[in-house]
Amino acid sequence: MKILVVEDETRVSQFMQKGLREEGHAVDVAADGEEGGFLAEVNEYDLIILDLMLPKKNGIVMCREIRDRGVETPVLMLTARDSVEDRVRGLDAGADDYLVKPFAFEELLARVRALLRRRSESRSPILTLADLELDPMSRMVTRAGKGIRLTTKEYALLEYMMRNPRKVLSRTLIGEHVWDMNFDPESNVIDVYISHLRAKIDKGFEPPLLHTLRGQGYILTDQAPPD
Ligand code: CA
Repeated sequence: MKILVVEDETRVSQFMQKGLREEGHAVDVAADGEEGGFLAEVNEYDLIILDLMLPKKNGIVMCREIRDRGVETPVLMLTARDSVEDRVRGLDAGADDYLVKPFAFEELLARVRALLRRRSESRSPILTLADLELDPMSRMVTRAGKGIRLTTKEYALLEYMMRNPRKVLSRTLIGEHVWDMNFDPESNVIDVYISHLRAKIDKGFEPPLLHTLRGQGYILTDQAPPD
């Protein structure tokens, strides 16, 4: 999943980035409400973790603005103290949940999981393409009924591709969604993951689903791939 963290305290921000990346998420970071609002509008995130007290534009204002502009991404608001007023203001501005600082990382993760689960439930629960199935809730992947074990990153890559089936996905697009905005499209990381993934989901099965389109990117399809 792709998460935007908007937090001006470097220490807290780095701690969240590190932990969320370890969980297999792609994480972008903004240090103020202006940059955060901009990123939230131009990129598609699965979740936004938004600090309330921010320079330039506070979390409440930023949240209200992105909601006004039609961004429906779930927002987890971080508040500095357990003030009822702050919580109510946050929820009124369109936040979906809040967490009081300081928090344990486990608690943050539990909230993140709950919000992402809610989001995937509101989407189609099980993703399928031919006989390949992916369940975003249990993170289970099967092909022709056989369980397939994937690493966190392979899973994230497959989930992104299954949410965009039969579409040519460029390396830049994959890099941005599965890694993060600082991803270097020149690196061969994607090729490496694609080949691992292909070995797991296509080897021993028919038809092949994961195709490379030279110079264009990759496509996950059960139909003949375009030239
Ligand atoms: Ca702050």
